[in-house]
Amino acid sequence: MNTMGECELCGAVKVAVRQLPMGKTTVTACSRCSDKLNLVPKQEAPGLTRARNMRQAPQKNTKPALMATGPKELAHDFSKRISKARKALNLSQQQLAKKMAETVNVIKSAESGKHPTDPVVRKFERILSIELMVARTAEETRHVAPGSGRGMTFGDYFNNMG
Ligand SMILES: [Zn+2]
Repeated sequence: MNTMGECELCGAVKVAVRQLPMGKTTVTACSRCSDKLNLVPKQEAPGLTRARNMRQAPQKNTKPALMATGPKELAHDFSKRISKARKALNLSQQQLAKKMAETVNVIKSAESGKHPTDPVVRKFERILSIELMVARTAEETRHVAPGSGRGMTFGDYFNNMG
């Protein structure tokens, strides 16, 4: 319940005030000040406050995914490579799933373009004898090449393209 009192924030007297949490203490504030400061009434569960703070927190490290991965990345046409290799081996999606000890949905989603997890990528590569991880493009490789000590030339790069 609101009580009449003095607002500790704006100094207004004889106004309806309520106790509001502010840091580790509470302040007596009039309704205008509490609205202005958007203070959370004590009754609200702390979990809700935390969720709201998290949503408002600025996102850090939002670099493009390409920059975060290693020098190799999943081939952009990995789904085609998988289905092509599977058909070359005359395997149905179910048969391939069985060989990989995965569910058929894993095969289906990979062939429809959904990125498989790393262990699944390795299984595809091993069982289908294909490569799904490819070197990055020249533009991106340039950032990692100097530290590698391999002295990779553009000739090497295009040779690697196969
Ligand atoms: Zn006030």
